[in-house]
Amino acid sequence: MTSDEIIIDVKGLNKWYGDFHVLKNIDLEVRKGERIVICGPSGSGKSTLIRCMNRLERHQEGTIIVDGTELTGNLKGLEKIRREVGMVFQNFNLFPHMTVLENLTLAPIWVRKMPRREAEATAMHFLERVRIAEQSGKYPGQLSGGQQQRVAIARALCMNPNILLFDEPTSALDPEMIKEVLDVMVALAEENMTMVCVTHEMGFARTVADRIIFMDCGEIVEQNSPEEFFSNPRFDRTKQFLSQIL
Ligand code: ADP
Ligand code: MG
Repeated sequence: MTSDEIIIDVKGLNKWYGDFHVLKNIDLEVRKGERIVICGPSGSGKSTLIRCMNRLERHQEGTIIVDGTELTGNLKGLEKIRREVGMVFQNFNLFPHMTVLENLTLAPIWVRKMPRREAEATAMHFLERVRIAEQSGKYPGQLSGGQQQRVAIARALCMNPNILLFDEPTSALDPEMIKEVLDVMVALAEENMTMVCVTHEMGFARTVADRIIFMDCGEIVEQNSPEEFFSNPRFDRTKQFLSQIL
């Protein structure tokens, strides 16, 4: 269920890497509980856009307001954003020298100042939810890619985020592992987590997304409900993209 409350409000966003104009006049409102899928060709700015939403990247023009905090250089706001916005990366980004349990308790203990026992109980709770609790003592390198990505999702959930950002979470996985990760994402979507997912998993987009956004060359070319997006794409660039991935 989507509420009327806008939890991510991007207005007139422009970003450059040196002379390269990577994001061009992006306007995007995400409502609380909404599930957004962002797709588009490689290099179109999808990662940069969602990385701007949790301040992993800085923008030069426009405003980004996340859950009432405007993303600027202000450090206090930044800590709040890092707590409230979870992120899941293509390559999992787990700490290789730490066990699964240590990966999950690190930020809650050091950022949220949670007592260790509580952090470990929370971690086990989320590891059970992604059905991997029995692996808690292992190191990431001892797990399959699908298992590592489920650990990464559990790690994000341990911070009790209001928003989850996913950057191509299944792109680095072998085909047989994609479903186990998508199943976890579908379950989160059913619990009304606000989700912004960069993905080319169009089956997921069709069943889960409230809205699909198509980007090309740093612009939002079109956005629509899944039904309209797939059955009636308005622009040639969208049609061409869909013809390549469907
Ligand atoms: P996508 O996720 O859609 O593939 P990205 O947001 O990763 O696109 O990148 C958009 C464009 O910006 C690409 O041309 C990429 O090469 C460039 N780019 C990405 N990150 C950087 C960076 N840190 N410095 C310079 N150029 C970058
Ligand atoms: Mg990317």
